[in-house]
Amino acid sequence: MIQMKRPFLNEAELKKITDQYPTPFYLYDEKGIRHNARQLMDAFCWNPGFKEYFAVKATPNPVILKIMKEEGCGVDCSSLTELMMAERCGFQGDEIMFSSNDTPAEDYIYAKKVNAIINLDDISHIAFLQQCIGTLPKKMSVRYNPGGVFTLGKTRDGYQVMDQPGEAKFGMTREQVFEALAKMKELCVEEFGLHAFVASNTLSNDYYPELARMIFTLAAEIKTKLGISISFVNLSGGVGIPYKPEEKANDIHAIGEGVQKAYQEILVPAGLGSIKICSELGRFMLGPYGYLVTKVLHIKHTYKDYIGVDANACNLIRPAMYGAYHHITVMGKEEEPCDHVYDVTGSLCENNDKFAINRPLPKVAVGDTLVIHDAGAHSFSMGYNYNGRLRSAELLYKEDGTVELIRRAETPEDYFATLKF
Ligand SMILES: *Cc1c(COP(=O)(O)O)cnc(C)c1O
Repeated sequence: MIQMKRPFLNEAELKKITDQYPTPFYLYDEKGIRHNARQLMDAFCWNPGFKEYFAVKATPNPVILKIMKEEGCGVDCSSLTELMMAERCGFQGDEIMFSSNDTPAEDYIYAKKVNAIINLDDISHIAFLQQCIGTLPKKMSVRYNPGGVFTLGKTRDGYQVMDQPGEAKFGMTREQVFEALAKMKELCVEEFGLHAFVASNTLSNDYYPELARMIFTLAAEIKTKLGISISFVNLSGGVGIPYKPEEKANDIHAIGEGVQKAYQEILVPAGLGSIKICSELGRFMLGPYGYLVTKVLHIKHTYKDYIGVDANACNLIRPAMYGAYHHITVMGKEEEPCDHVYDVTGSLCENNDKFAINRPLPKVAVGDTLVIHDAGAHSFSMGYNYNGRLRSAELLYKEDGTVELIRRAETPEDYFATLKF
């Protein structure tokens, strides 16, 4: 059954905002973000040390990070500026996971400065890190890549989870994980974590449990072979969201229970029953709770029917980059039949600048406001400046119904600021 995907606010409520702030802009739903974060905490409350490290790259805005902090989350950073933002938002030490790859020296030096937990992407980074910071931190982790193809046997709604870790640049081989841990122990590291991220945007309650099973089994083997007791397991990101109306959302409680079952079956008998579970979710934490709001500038009828909006792929590149589906609501026309078919485009001089292709929508008019759904994660943050287009504002719809500007829109002055002439 096709389910409705409706914005959390109606046309009149959104109009009040568009009257005050020019489109395009991003709008985040504080209530939704907090409610979802609490569901995650509840689903993993069986594990006393559980911590979500929100993946900063998904939505790098200090106000969002502070909401995460208030909900008990840490942050997962992957670059110098993400570390700086985390520090400025008051995160420190064990509240910061640093899961980077191809890491520059200055990033490691900063990670050490804020006492982040450094998650090593490669065995060669042990020596590199020593060059950067001298003595290794007491607490560190390593990123495992099992190689090959990762599939989940069971399918739901005909959806098959399949990804190719063997083609991914991330992480170490199994042999390298053993070698790295032994080396790190020699270098006086005392607390060890294991991290793996093998499939993205999974719509399956089995992804985390299957991944946990894989890492837990490895942790048990590490204990036997190296005498090292892993102290935390980082299940990283990858829990997905339903972008399409017909897709079914993951059940975070079922996911939590699945991981708990694996924990009891594998870790507890192996004498590893005090391992802490971590996650580094980005999309699951923010994706559904952010919209790109845009207005229709032009309607064009040539070989196809085009809706030209005031946002473009610089604001949201996912459709152009991945062919990603983002649902679109025409505000005020929610009840009208979707009996017209349009390409919804931006203004870039690139034919892939389309938010939707052949999308059934109600009859659209110039001036209509469109809400592009599920743009809370990996959306604003992937923005760029092609064609001299500027990044939009970000707004927070607060729990009390007021709206806060949490990032102003870029201006032409910002665009020229880095140019020397
Ligand atoms: C991108 C990323 C995440 C977040 O992934 P989501 O799919 O948004 O959950 C977590 N950890 C690392 C290392 C990442 O690169």
